[in-house]
Amino acid sequence: MARQRELGRGEKVLPGLWRLRLPLPWPGVPHGNAWAIAAGSGIVLVDTGMHEAGSLAQLERALDQVNLRLEHVRLVVCTHAHSDHWGQAAPICERAGCEMWMHPNHQHATRSAGDPEAALARRLEVARQSGVSEQALRQYAERAKEFPSGIARVVEPDRDLVPGVVVETDLGDWEVFETPGHAPSHVCLFQRERRLLLSGDHLLGRISLYYDYGWTPDPTGEFLGSLDVVDELDARLCLAGHGRPFTDVHAHVEGNRQLVAERVAAVLGALDGRPRTAVEIAPGVYGEQLSQANAAWLLSQTLCYLTHLERQGRVTRAPDGGVERWQAVG
Ligand SMILES: [Zn+2]
Ligand SMILES: [Zn+2]
Repeated sequence: MARQRELGRGEKVLPGLWRLRLPLPWPGVPHGNAWAIAAGSGIVLVDTGMHEAGSLAQLERALDQVNLRLEHVRLVVCTHAHSDHWGQAAPICERAGCEMWMHPNHQHATRSAGDPEAALARRLEVARQSGVSEQALRQYAERAKEFPSGIARVVEPDRDLVPGVVVETDLGDWEVFETPGHAPSHVCLFQRERRLLLSGDHLLGRISLYYDYGWTPDPTGEFLGSLDVVDELDARLCLAGHGRPFTDVHAHVEGNRQLVAERVAAVLGALDGRPRTAVEIAPGVYGEQLSQANAAWLLSQTLCYLTHLERQGRVTRAPDGGVERWQAVG
C-alpha cells in the first residue's frame, strides 16, 4: 500500500534554534529531527536525516522554511551513527565544506555499512543461534538484499565527539555526555545555562526502547547507566531525535527505567520452566508473534535483556547443537 509521504518541515523552537522534521520511510517512525543552532555567520547542524532518493531536497525544504540553506552549515554533529542521524553527513559536509563530529565508537555502523555481506552473515548467525528455522533465515536473507542502507557514503568523524569537546553556538557552549545503550556511539549534548538537552534517540518523547546488539557487553546495562547520566543534568527542555520537544525530562527518564524493568521481568517470567531459545521467549515478552518484519528487531532486543541478566548471574545459556537455550538461575 502506498503511503502518503511526509515532507520536510522547519520550525523555530527558540530564538536561534530550529527543528527540522525530516521524513523517514519506516513504518511507525514517519519522521526524525535534525536541529539547526545559530553559530556566528551560520549554523551547527545536529543530525542529518537518512539518505534516500530526494532526501537532501527534503532537508533543504525544511531549512528553507526557516530561511536557512545548506551553505549555512558550519559544522555537522551526529548524536549517533544510525542512518537517520548520520546517513546524509557526507553530502551535507561536501555541500557546506564543513567538518562532521561524532563519537569514536561508530564501528557498529561504519563497519556494517562498509561490508554489508559480512554484517548480514553475522545477523543470520545470531538468528540461527536464537532458534530461527533455516527456511525463515533463507527468506530473510533474500529480503535483506533489498533493504536500503540509508547511508549516502560511509564517513568517519573529523573530530571525536567525547567529553571535554565543546560545541560552540550563539546559545552558548554545548557539553558532550557519552550515553551508550541505544547505540555504542550515542552522545547527548547539554547547554548548561539554558538547561537544554539534545538527546538523540537516548530519550524520546514517546518512550521506545532500542539497543544495538552484539557490539558491547551489555547494551541494556549501558542504557540504564546513561539514563542516570542524563537525569543528573536536570534538563528543562529535551530536543529529541524524533517527535516534539518536551519538558518533563525526569519523568521520561523514569518511564524508560520502568519499561526496562518490565521487559526484564517479562524475560525472566518466560524462563520459569525448561530452557528456551530467544525465538521461544520473544513473543511472550512483546505480546507479538514473530514475523519476517519484526523478528530481527524483537530477537535482538530479547538477546540484550538475556545478556543483561546473564551478566547479573540471573540466567545462563547452554549451546545445544548450534542453538542457544536460556535458563533462569536458582
Ligand atoms: Zn538511533
Ligand atoms: Zn533515530
